[in-house]
Amino acid sequence: MPEFSLELNEDQRTLRGWVHEFAEQVVRPVAHEWDEREETPWPVIEEAAKVGMYDLEFVATTFADPTGLSMAITFEEMSWGDAGICLAIFGSTLAVAGIMNAGTPEQQMEWIPQCFGTPGDLKLAAFGVSEPDAGSDVSSLKTRAVYDEAADEWVLNGTKTWITNGGLANLHVIVASVDPTLGSRGQASFVVPEGTKGISQGRKFQKMGIRASHTAEVLLEECRVPGRNLLGGKEKLDARLARAREGRSSSTQTAMATFEASRPLIGAQAIGIARAAYEYALAYAKERVQFGRAIIQNQAIAFKLADMRTQIDAARLLVWRAAWMAATRTPFSAGEGSMSKLHAGETAVRVTDEAIQILGGAGYVRDHPVEQWHRDAKIYTIFEGTSEIQRLIIARAVSGVHIA
Ligand SMILES: Cc1cc2nc3c(=O)[nH]c(=O)nc-3n(C[C@H](O)[C@H](O)[C@H](O)COP(=O)(O)OP(=O)(O)OC[C@H]3O[C@@H](n4cnc5c(N)ncnc54)[C@H](O)[C@@H]3O)c2cc1C
Repeated sequence: MPEFSLELNEDQRTLRGWVHEFAEQVVRPVAHEWDEREETPWPVIEEAAKVGMYDLEFVATTFADPTGLSMAITFEEMSWGDAGICLAIFGSTLAVAGIMNAGTPEQQMEWIPQCFGTPGDLKLAAFGVSEPDAGSDVSSLKTRAVYDEAADEWVLNGTKTWITNGGLANLHVIVASVDPTLGSRGQASFVVPEGTKGISQGRKFQKMGIRASHTAEVLLEECRVPGRNLLGGKEKLDARLARAREGRSSSTQTAMATFEASRPLIGAQAIGIARAAYEYALAYAKERVQFGRAIIQNQAIAFKLADMRTQIDAARLLVWRAAWMAATRTPFSAGEGSMSKLHAGETAVRVTDEAIQILGGAGYVRDHPVEQWHRDAKIYTIFEGTSEIQRLIIARAVSGVHIA
């Protein structure tokens, strides 16, 4: 097991420099445009594919870093460039994580490459759990998967909502209930590949922030997929359902397993936004003169910047610890994955708010990017588990009490 170290190795430093350069030269200059357009930034994804960043091998190598830090570094730098574009490029990795967590090695080999495509023939993927009546409470999914034994097919029916890349994706991983009486233990994940009938995009949402990332409903109407598209296979599912029916314990739930491992990486994105806002506000505070002196010479402004930097560094320490724990399979005994996402998400909201305050009126208008960063930051206290749900997970983990 690699030691936990705050000193990045040479590969990680090179990676950080490379991603930062892409974020600075390719992403930042077009961030405002794609925020205004509220569309998937295909030319930027294409560019990321060309340089080998939106690429299976890159994602596989980066995820395989035994210290767990490489993906966190990548997400922080890309999100520093623009969080919406970062999600447009890397939103597919949630589906990849779903396939990695639940799929057999054969299924991983078959479907993960289809989540990326190749330059000139890009593919996107989506991971669909949330529903109109099942957001925080993922145990109450209504989307049903029924096995048609004669045809050896699964029939999916239901509505997914708020799905990143939903309907636009070439491949969807859909979490559905096979046995609703068992709650989350009766759920399974299904791959719905390109060209499958019965899957379509519903409403596309107009959002407050991360507007370069596509978010939409996904409708499933008599959507049939072959039996082999059940991740993990039927034998394993039947055994798991039998254990659940007998009331025996089982390993982690389908959707939660994916979210647990990805939480530190969501936190890393939030840190990227916070850092962008902090750096911008620091530079502005040194230049803006009022009452005959730079505004940073007032403690009221300088102390804000001191707090912003302290909170960002603290959030990164939590994120790196959780990323290292996830990579080394160290159990999150105190909800450390949740802690990292909770603190990073709330830091991003606070820091971007303070950045607007430091810029004053200039911070409130679209001439400067800080108002967008504040809008972008807010989602990090909501998706992949709200701040309240993170606190619930931590509180249960540290107390051993089933807090409602
Ligand atoms: C832009 C965007 C992208 C998304 N991408 C995806 C995606 O790709 N795939 C996917 O599956 N989902 C996705 N989601 C869904 C997201 O994960 C959910 O919005 C989130 O889990 C919260 O669910 P909800 O919106 O239904 O809120 P609700 O669950 O209705 O919660 C409403 C409020 O009640 C609080 N609350 C609920 N239960 C409790 C409790 N027990 N204790 C205390 N407070 C509680 C919540 O914290 C929140 O403040 C996305 C959402 C957005 C907005």
